[in-house]
Amino acid sequence: MLELPEVLTLSKQANNILSGKTITQVFNAIKPHKFTFYNGDPLEYGKLLVGKIILSSEGHGMFVDFNLSDNAMINIGDGVIVRYYNPGDKIPANYQLLLAFDDGSFLVFSVAMYGFINAYPDRNINNKYYKLSRESISPISNNYTEEEFEKLFVGAKKTLTAKALLATEQRIPGVGNGVTQDILFNAQVNPKQKVSILSDRKKEELFNSLKNTLIDMTFEGGRDTQTDLYGNSGGYRTIMSAGTWKNPCPRCGGTIAKEAYLGGSVYYCPECQKERV
Ligand SMILES: [Zn+2]
Repeated sequence: MLELPEVLTLSKQANNILSGKTITQVFNAIKPHKFTFYNGDPLEYGKLLVGKIILSSEGHGMFVDFNLSDNAMINIGDGVIVRYYNPGDKIPANYQLLLAFDDGSFLVFSVAMYGFINAYPDRNINNKYYKLSRESISPISNNYTEEEFEKLFVGAKKTLTAKALLATEQRIPGVGNGVTQDILFNAQVNPKQKVSILSDRKKEELFNSLKNTLIDMTFEGGRDTQTDLYGNSGGYRTIMSAGTWKNPCPRCGGTIAKEAYLGGSVYYCPECQKERV
């Protein structure tokens, strides 16, 4: 899934390699994919996109924007895999959208579990999460302060847990189930910890971990569980993920727990991330 470190990595790469290219052809999905969501009818995307120039790409929250000439735009999110191919490269057998460019290179969008690929004729985007993401302060920016983080706790239900706070409802756009695992591990906070009883000191640790973990992940070009625009795995080695949880805890050597919790697995060390009641 695209989360903030991958969004920033992809948009930076796209901005470098795609800017100035003109879309000459649009190919629709070879096979329908039930959980790929489009804005409007994707069969109309050809009419909308052919002839447009990619001006730039920007990432924010869980979205990667491709800004096009004439004020048009494409954005993607969630489980979309976007891959750039050089002229002459083999076209993959399956995709949900393919854009061919004037120099023979092409861009392929595919979806593993679910994701959305949206094309718009203008910037008038009526999507709650998009607006939230656009208007929010990025947690890795210097403007995202402890006071900003503290706002998440104001009016929160007594039962709200650490994973719910970080990974649900896009309270911090771009932070989801994936990055939350290492944020909580680094802060030594249990995913099921009720945040209403966190001490100020622990909140500060969580705030620092949120920032530092996301900065590390972004600096390394995303997590190793995800791929970038060229199909390479990110350089950030996840501590708590599907690929690592069977290893001993890197801090205490104990056994990592894996449980289904709030729409997805949580991985944590019961020793280092004790739940305080
Ligand atoms: Zn441990």
